Amino acid sequence: LSASRTLWELAARRADLSPDRPVLLQDDRTLTFGELRARAERVAAGLYDMGVRPGTVVAWQLPTRIETALLSFALARLGAVQSPVIPFYRDREVGFALRESKAEFFAVPGPWRGFDHTEMARRLGAKAIFEAYDDLPDGDPAVLPAPPADGTSVRWIYWTSGTTSDPKGVLHTDRSLIAGGSCLAHALRLTADDVGSMAFPYAHIAGPDYTVMLLLYGFPAVMFEQFALPDALEGYRRHGVTVAGGSTAFYSMFLTEQRKRPGERIIPTLRLLAGGGAPKPPEVYHAVVRELGVQLTHGYGMTEVPMITMGAPDDTVENLATTEGRPPEGMSVRIVDGEVRLKGEAVCQGYLDPSQTAEAFDEEGYLRTGDLGFVKDTGHLVLTGRLKDVIIRKGENISAREIEDLLAAHPAVGDVAVIGLPDAERGERVCAVVEQPEGAGELTLEAVTGYLRAEGLSPHKLPEQLEVVDALPRNETLRKVLKYKLRERYAGTVIRGR
Ligand code: ATP
Ligand code: MG
Repeated sequence: LSASRTLWELAARRADLSPDRPVLLQDDRTLTFGELRARAERVAAGLYDMGVRPGTVVAWQLPTRIETALLSFALARLGAVQSPVIPFYRDREVGFALRESKAEFFAVPGPWRGFDHTEMARRLGAKAIFEAYDDLPDGDPAVLPAPPADGTSVRWIYWTSGTTSDPKGVLHTDRSLIAGGSCLAHALRLTADDVGSMAFPYAHIAGPDYTVMLLLYGFPAVMFEQFALPDALEGYRRHGVTVAGGSTAFYSMFLTEQRKRPGERIIPTLRLLAGGGAPKPPEVYHAVVRELGVQLTHGYGMTEVPMITMGAPDDTVENLATTEGRPPEGMSVRIVDGEVRLKGEAVCQGYLDPSQTAEAFDEEGYLRTGDLGFVKDTGHLVLTGRLKDVIIRKGENISAREIEDLLAAHPAVGDVAVIGLPDAERGERVCAVVEQPEGAGELTLEAVTGYLRAEGLSPHKLPEQLEVVDALPRNETLRKVLKYKLRERYAGTVIRGR
């Protein structure tokens, strides 16, 4: 199966092999591999009737639901170019994604979780907006042209978190996504009897990566539109989840819940937690194994390369606790001047902007990740930091610079540094440290967040802590703000939750 050229070919082969086995579970609903193929074909025909053709760019901003997977597979069936956008993104990011991708169609959920996506889409001047929450496009598959035959055309535009500047549009092919998913499958050594779960937005690069794994092994995963404990635990128990995925913030969430219920295993069927995408302190590894009674494997990935390294479940405690695991077969990792560089089938084709592509790949075709690390003599990768500055809050990467740039325009703000502070609940929380210009009035957290909201900043990026200082600590040479000093100073402070 992993030799499939396209995602659609993979889905179709799996549907032939095990049509009646479930692939996606959500609330009381089940979708089988056979239904995934049959229903996605009808959706593809509906899209075709609307004018979507092979190569048409279709952006979608939809929650983690069975319908979203169907729409995504329908686009794969057509050979359209799809650009998934995270559901809680607002005008700034969505407008950027629509403009840069030149999307000809835009699928939205309509009003969703108190926010009207259709209205935002209109405000942004999106073309051919359609709602795809309950009712998906529908048509007779007889109208469809043949599925795409090659897996090496660009069919996916994903968006990086925009840590350094604006987000970058990352170009993937069906082949690079299948390669990423195959690596994940191989590293985790799951079986057809496993039951997985998606505790990340389906619109993340992890969505297809995970789905490829389901198609390869033929096991199902539980989807959550709103992932919140303890409801999610109920879903885990009901469906007998054996392997759960997510980021570091998610492990902490499980630990907190487990500590409230001593003497009882919160997910009796769980045997493996497998996640990644953010730093994981060794203490967290040990606490998960000890308190949850399950194995934990953690990996390293990025929008450009969904899976780079992953811990193997049967590796040593030392390696699992302190490294990101080893690269899979077919992935070359090298370290140049401390920076991790990568080459392999799962690496993206480049960026929407050709000048970014030229900058990102070195003379030998390796992708510069911007991450710092080293490889141990056992072949395990250890990450030590980033060339750039990012805050990872609840598994979402947030650019400090984006918030700083917006805040700098506020009349009561002089210079500003936005930092991430360690936070048990969120992984990191967002803290703005502000120097005020002379004579400026008092500044409150509420005023700051109100201002940023009005500027269109997404709610998950709003600072949760404000510190006003006389002078930011700076280095002697370039007078650049020393963020590590600020992190040290405020690391121990406690704030209320959001
Ligand atoms: P941009 O590329 O726009 O500046 P970004 O790099 O933050 O944004 P993502 O692709 O979402 O966008 O994040 C990938 C980054 O997340 C990696 O380059 C790495 O810095 C970090 N990361 C991923 N996995 C891990 C991990 N296991 N440990 C530490 N950091 C990780
Ligand atoms: Mg990046």
